[in-house]
Amino acid sequence: GSTIGILGGGQLGRMLSVAASRLGFRTHVFEPGANPPAADVAHALTTASYEDTEALKAFAASVDVVTYEFENIPTSALDVIEALKPIRPNREVLRISQDRLTEKDFLTGLGLTTAPYADVPDLAALEQALADLGAPAILKTRRFGYDGKGQVRITDATQAAQAFAEMKGAPAILEGFVDFTMEISVIAARGLDGSVACFDPGRNVHREGILRETTVPAGIPARLRTDAIILAGRILNALDYVGVMGVELFVTPQGLLVNEVAPRVHNSGHWTQNGCATDQFEQHIRAVTGWPLGDGSRHSDVVMQNLIGDDMDEVPTLAARPGTALHLYGKAESRPGRKMGHANHVKPQQA
Ligand code: ATP
Ligand code: MG
Ligand code: MG
Repeated sequence: GSTIGILGGGQLGRMLSVAASRLGFRTHVFEPGANPPAADVAHALTTASYEDTEALKAFAASVDVVTYEFENIPTSALDVIEALKPIRPNREVLRISQDRLTEKDFLTGLGLTTAPYADVPDLAALEQALADLGAPAILKTRRFGYDGKGQVRITDATQAAQAFAEMKGAPAILEGFVDFTMEISVIAARGLDGSVACFDPGRNVHREGILRETTVPAGIPARLRTDAIILAGRILNALDYVGVMGVELFVTPQGLLVNEVAPRVHNSGHWTQNGCATDQFEQHIRAVTGWPLGDGSRHSDVVMQNLIGDDMDEVPTLAARPGTALHLYGKAESRPGRKMGHANHVKPQQA
């Protein structure tokens, strides 16, 4: 069988490795950090830095195709790999999604709606943007943000200087605050042959910028569900995408707004592990290896509960609960805000 290279050894890389293994593939994970969760299950692990050209070349030489579990891979590392093996999803996808400004320009260029936004290279631009968009608004770093990190809420224009200082010189954008009725996401997949399959949209609840719970079905009207799926398909086609993508959406009385996209398997898609015959991890492996996409139709109602920090204290109770599937990431140390695992609470649907 062939070998899949995975850039990033976090929990997503770990669950991709498990899915690959089930289909008879081997995985080689590249992860600069110590004790990566994927180390337990990957067939090979390289712990070199992204600046280590020789290690990158050896990694690429040992695999048939390269994919990734996070979007902030240095461009220089991708150049080295791409000279040797295909990277799926493609480079252009990474370029666009690494930067909130580029991503929003791309989405609005497709005719989709996002929160109102403005580039704010300096304080004067931020003050002007606040005057244009109004408060409340959110200042976000253009790059490297996740789990709500690198974001500051501005409730009044007088807070501009303070908020700008909190960006510590990192390029940022201002987003108008969206008064959404709920958040949903579509986990969408596109195969090498261009076929598209979307999982049922889930309803997401965040606390302090971190995803806590995803519920399927989302409890939205059929029309909105269709809109969400069509919108995701348009994004995938426009990017000539191969793999799984997470599309985060705000539901508003005026329709759907795109919050952001993630060019990888997504936390809000973890419910698929116990709700579908083919989960998002297998779907991604199928796509990047050129297999046909699998059956991702939903056979059960699921509530996915993230286990963050001290939530791990609930594990003994969850382990004894009927209808609950536990997925733990094997991280030695729990810290506040750290994703340690998740629980899928499953209720099979009546036929
Ligand atoms: P992720 O871990 O999903 O990558 P992130 O750090 O990229 O998170 P966002 O998705 O931009 O952060 O924001 C996190 C959450 O904050 C959103 O899911 C939403 O609940 C809230 N939020 C972000 N932007 C806005 C906005 N413009 N209006 C209202 N709420 C927002
Ligand atoms: Mg994000
Ligand atoms: Mg997000």
